[in-house]
Amino acid sequence: MSFADLGLSDELLQAVETAGYTEPTPIQAQAIPPVLMMKDLIGIAQTGTGKTASFVLPMIDILAHGRRRALMPRSLILEPTRELAAQVAENFEKYGKNHDLKMALLIGGVQMGDQLKTLSEGVDVLIATPGRLMDLFERGKILLTGCELLVIDEADRMLDMGFIPDIETICSKLPVNRQTLLFSATMPPVIKKLADRFLSNPKYIEVARPATANTNIVQHKVAVNARKKREVLRHLLRTDDVSTAIVFCNRKSTVRELAKSLKRYGFAAGEIHGDMDQPARLAELERFKAGDVNILCASDVAARGLDVKGVSHVFNFDTPWHPDDYVHRIGRTGRGGAKGRAFTFVAPEDAEAIENVEKLTGGAIPLFEFSAQAESEEPVREEAPVREKRERKPQREKAPAKETRKETADEPARSRRREREHEPADDGWNGPVPEFLSVSAIA
Ligand code: ADP
Ligand code: MG
Repeated sequence: MSFADLGLSDELLQAVETAGYTEPTPIQAQAIPPVLMMKDLIGIAQTGTGKTASFVLPMIDILAHGRRRALMPRSLILEPTRELAAQVAENFEKYGKNHDLKMALLIGGVQMGDQLKTLSEGVDVLIATPGRLMDLFERGKILLTGCELLVIDEADRMLDMGFIPDIETICSKLPVNRQTLLFSATMPPVIKKLADRFLSNPKYIEVARPATANTNIVQHKVAVNARKKREVLRHLLRTDDVSTAIVFCNRKSTVRELAKSLKRYGFAAGEIHGDMDQPARLAELERFKAGDVNILCASDVAARGLDVKGVSHVFNFDTPWHPDDYVHRIGRTGRGGAKGRAFTFVAPEDAEAIENVEKLTGGAIPLFEFSAQAESEEPVREEAPVREKRERKPQREKAPAKETRKETADEPARSRRREREHEPADDGWNGPVPEFLSVSAIA
């Protein structure tokens, strides 16, 4: 099967070739022909399987003919996060380079002026997050009555983020006889209901069992004492041939503290979480994409759907509370046919969470065995202090003193907070024996 078999135009095939894709992914192969035939469609496929191009490509050909009108976008793509919206916009630019299409991106946290100007001149494609779109709609800055194609992307994420009521409102503002496409990694009942209500006679495509993890990803769980997580992470970062990694944490505070700690140990670490404003998040993402940092500590919401090429590893610093998050997290690696590795830290108190993950993914995740060689090398103990010193050389005199003072002063408050959040203290390597190397059974 090649892209040429799918009924796409020559201009588009050329752009696809330039992008370096030789073969459509299964969801692309199955979705593109019915979308080109203007059918409604439900596309279910796990994260990282190329769902974006399965609607962007046919949309470009569909929109190639027709006229733009002021304030009335011809098509609308809803995305749950700003980052995903920005990625879809990038896709339009990449594949649409041989077409005269105008696009606007409406996302929270960035200046709206230019986007409003573009909208008022008329756009073929509007890519938006539901919140910002509702905001604009309510202020009468946009008309959705000319919008004949709607894409609800990452529908299960929309659900998690509480966007379903907004989507229902938006759907009711669009013309009834539009084409509607819905994409999701999973199909929970609420999404099914949404589809029943707003899609008409849709073609249903499911390329893999929902929430089945991608087979290009080697998965491990790592039995770890909560207090040793950072140490184990550093060990794996050094020994598992990590080129780029995303480290997921369940809480924003953990993301911040972990990134700080990794930097102290000489790692090129960045962070992305919901407390950062949009420019800061995008800037951090750019640093990661450019290779200025190769380890990105992330919270689920901020990292949702990020398309960063060639992430070799995903670490779940915390076992995710929601099993669906597991699939989304590890889907950041093993993309576009590449191999990836995913490690999930499981502390005794995560027994129930990991059980739910394994129920959803349909099998026990193998326990990671630390090699005897790694044990004899004691890498954490050897390297950490050296790297730390080198990294902080310029302020060697002042920084440690300041930090010690701060730590002492804040101690009562910090330990109280940790207790509340079940977040362990980790003040670096102390013990002579790398305890985590003797893997204990998960309770
Ligand atoms: P999803 O939305 O299903 O999670 P994306 O659309 O973000 O997945 O695509 C995942 C990755 O696969 C991206 O890096 C994308 O560039 C790449 N990709 C998409 N289609 C192809 C293809 N036909 N061949 C190779 N890589 C592809
Ligand atoms: Mg996607």
